[in-house]
Amino acid sequence: MNFEVCILGCSSAIPTAERGLSAQWLEIHHQHYLLDCGEGTQIRIRQEGLPLQRLSVIFISHAHADHFLGLPGLLSTMDLLGRKKELTIFCPESVQLFLEQYWNSVDFKPSFPITIDSSSWKSGGLIYSAKSLQVEAIPLKHAVPCRGFLFREIRDAFTLNKLKLAAFDLSIPQIIELKQGNDVCLSNGVWLSANQVGRAGPKVRSYAYLTDTRPVLQTLLKTSAPMVLYHESTFSEKHKDRAKKTQHSTAYEAAEIADKWGVSVLILGHYSVRYPNVNELLEEAKTKFNNTHLGFNGYRLQL
Ligand SMILES: [Zn+2]
Ligand SMILES: [Zn+2]
Repeated sequence: MNFEVCILGCSSAIPTAERGLSAQWLEIHHQHYLLDCGEGTQIRIRQEGLPLQRLSVIFISHAHADHFLGLPGLLSTMDLLGRKKELTIFCPESVQLFLEQYWNSVDFKPSFPITIDSSSWKSGGLIYSAKSLQVEAIPLKHAVPCRGFLFREIRDAFTLNKLKLAAFDLSIPQIIELKQGNDVCLSNGVWLSANQVGRAGPKVRSYAYLTDTRPVLQTLLKTSAPMVLYHESTFSEKHKDRAKKTQHSTAYEAAEIADKWGVSVLILGHYSVRYPNVNELLEEAKTKFNNTHLGFNGYRLQL
């Protein structure tokens, strides 16, 4: 089962020739998701050869133009191409109002079903679940209400062997416990471990997308760390005051979050246009968290 990330844009506020505005494409268990939709996202989707019409859910982090202004064009293109499949959009209420006012003003609305859910976005927590995936919305600290998104696979920790299980008189709740890797107490008082009747499955994969925000470590520590973290790094340390003033993070602060939360991999992005070369951001982050990578247009990662 696949779990893939493709960065479509990683510039903050102003796009450059090399860096599009915020957007990422996720393919998880053959379902397609879009994170943010800055202006030009539909062109980037084309350039990356991604299956636009198979997109099923869009998650918008907040109501700054560099994160949602690509929606009207993207949705129009889907309609022009004859889309019938439903699309769900999680976004702030102001983005919902923007889309409705836009469609009213041009007297055109895409004909395929679009569900816009701003109330789940606002309440946060678990906002989306599929058969084998859950998405949590995490409150961030930015100039306007903002959410990060944490994608986590749902998977049994242990694969049980039916022949070995048959040797014990187990209830369904006990089998569920064993699948989660927990020991159970048998009727004779003996403890049975998951290892005795099965083997540990592959690691649960997870991905967090956190932009735009000041560091929010205490909030993040309430949930277990993802395998891979994309964290905004708009500024370098020499512009730390600017990061605080504009409610963004430096690359070093992103690395501190990666280190203290306990992720395996950190990807940087949402770079200020003032850094044509972002290697200084990478170098600063690596002094705190070595497994840091620079996000860029077309960066792809298989988890
Ligand atoms: Zn932004
Ligand atoms: Zn912003």
